[in-house]
Amino acid sequence: MMLTYHTTTVEETQAVARALGAIVQPGDLLCLSGDLGAGKTTFTQGLARGLGVEEPVSSPTFTIIKEYDEGRIPLYHMDIYRLGESAAEEELGFDDYFYGEGVSVVEWAEWLQEVLPADRVQVVHNLTPTHREITFAATGPRSEARLKELEKTCPTWR
Ligand code: ADP
Ligand code: MG
Repeated sequence: MMLTYHTTTVEETQAVARALGAIVQPGDLLCLSGDLGAGKTTFTQGLARGLGVEEPVSSPTFTIIKEYDEGRIPLYHMDIYRLGESAAEEELGFDDYFYGEGVSVVEWAEWLQEVLPADRVQVVHNLTPTHREITFAATGPRSEARLKELEKTCPTWR
């Protein structure tokens, strides 16, 4: 299953993410890809709001992983960019997050390919001259269920 949203403002991007934040479950994995500035961190900020996290969310470029515990379930926000191609070899305990009590959101997850759980929501952010495009794809029953729910609670605009 795939879902595509078009947004023209930060608020619209965050509204989609917030709707997803309201329905994600422990053990869910969202893999965000797209160029620098495409909106991955902006999206994660909306998702955090949807979980009930009020603390500001910024890019964990230097810490790689940042955990937020004040929401409905924990949010594990990772940014793999700085690790680059050898990311999967780093012993950062990724499995503790992926199979933990919270939802994992990974920017630049493509560099972690080998260690990612198979069932995940792929989120591709694309910048076009007129708008941003956010495409969700499910890769298994868990992620499929989440996207079906998202489609109900956040209808695609335009
Ligand atoms: P990434 O994490 O992918 O590198 P960021 O979320 O940090 O990207 O940056 C996205 C930038 O684009 C922000 O400065 C944000 O204000 C801007 N922006 C403009 N329009 C949008 C939109 N519709 N959705 C998301 N971000 C947008
Ligand atoms: Mg970012």
